[in-house]
Amino acid sequence: MDITWLLKPGELVLKGDNRKLFEHYLQRNIQRMLKADGKVIKFKATTGRYYITAPEEQSEFVENALSRLIGISGWARTIVCEKTPDAVFAACLEEGNKIAGGGAKTFKIEARRTDKSFPMSSYEICCKCGEIIYNKYGLAVKINNPDNTIRIEIREKALVYSGGQKGLGGLPVGTAGKGLLLLSGGIDSPVAGFLMAARGMSINAIHFHSYPFTSNEAKQKTIDLAKTISSYCMGLNLYILNFTKVQMKIKEKSPASWATVLLRMAMMEAAEKTAQKIKCKCLITGESLSQVASQTIENLGCTQNRIKLPVVRPLIGMNKENIIKEAMRIGTYDISIQPYEDCCTLFTPKHPVLYGKIEEANRLYEELELETLIDESIENLELKSMDYKTIL
Ligand code: ATP
Ligand code: MG
Repeated sequence: MDITWLLKPGELVLKGDNRKLFEHYLQRNIQRMLKADGKVIKFKATTGRYYITAPEEQSEFVENALSRLIGISGWARTIVCEKTPDAVFAACLEEGNKIAGGGAKTFKIEARRTDKSFPMSSYEICCKCGEIIYNKYGLAVKINNPDNTIRIEIREKALVYSGGQKGLGGLPVGTAGKGLLLLSGGIDSPVAGFLMAARGMSINAIHFHSYPFTSNEAKQKTIDLAKTISSYCMGLNLYILNFTKVQMKIKEKSPASWATVLLRMAMMEAAEKTAQKIKCKCLITGESLSQVASQTIENLGCTQNRIKLPVVRPLIGMNKENIIKEAMRIGTYDISIQPYEDCCTLFTPKHPVLYGKIEEANRLYEELELETLIDESIENLELKSMDYKTIL
């Protein structure tokens, strides 16, 4: 038996002139997500509604994909029937049976009729369908806070559904340009990447490792994080750069207290150069104000002062508790807390500078003459392309 899902677009309804563009990307993303070998899945778009139809045995695959689709506010399994009162009543009884079986005691009906040629008004549909469900299953009608709501829409076909799942919301990936995420193995940066994807941005990621001071497990952890993010943002490229020589030079030549800020400055420079090559319009970090010494407003100012691309920090005003909740929701938390450090303690100062001055930061940074080492790390980068279906 085939199942049909009704998808409701999220913020798209708010969009004015560029609504068509947003719809185009949403459709493209849905179609890409559902394209899989041997799976017979049909997709249909009409004004303001999207439908997916697939054999029942593929429903797990479809619902898994929908739970990762940015840009829809929700979806529901839907009975699609002919636009006749009898067919609608029969579908209502089927839904009534389902909600009664699920333990509901009260319900209400909500009806919408965009096709005015249907011979009953929305109000009449509500009254009649309420009555037949009450008569058959003894469920009481309750307008405020019912256990369940059965929804009926009379459009190009008649749709009858109840319950449903909440979607991720946001704007379809691809509608807001491309950003380069600085992805560490920590909790914060994967969340930052997801939040930007949920504003419609396509994401690529860059990771710096210092092998052999950091382990291969730490690198693998970042690859796993990138895979998880890629399943929401329609795939991504992960650029892995070896920064061992850069870190060594900072350790040898600069005051220990400045090591972290100088390293972040070098990461920004390498990230900007990479971003320009791959046409990313901004850098994205998981920084949150004053979370650690390198994230005071003064040090953030030092970190970004030598680059021109905008640096977006979606977590800047979030506290750790909420970041963790978000990481759990998107499935990155368990990977992030694996015990492999992405930054060797050998390079982490005991007493870091807290309120770095930009002039001093620049003087120390220029003394390091890192350009050749940075270019070398870019030339030798390792690229991993992640398909968005990797973990589905
Ligand atoms: P996270 O949990 O994301 O690691 P954090 O709180 O540990 O963040 P820092 O280690 O100070 O913070 O890093 C700040 C930001 O710099 C990170 O969110 C990330 O965007 C970037 N960053 C740090 N280390 C790396 C790395 N090895 N590779 C790429 N980006 C990094
Ligand atoms: Mg970190």
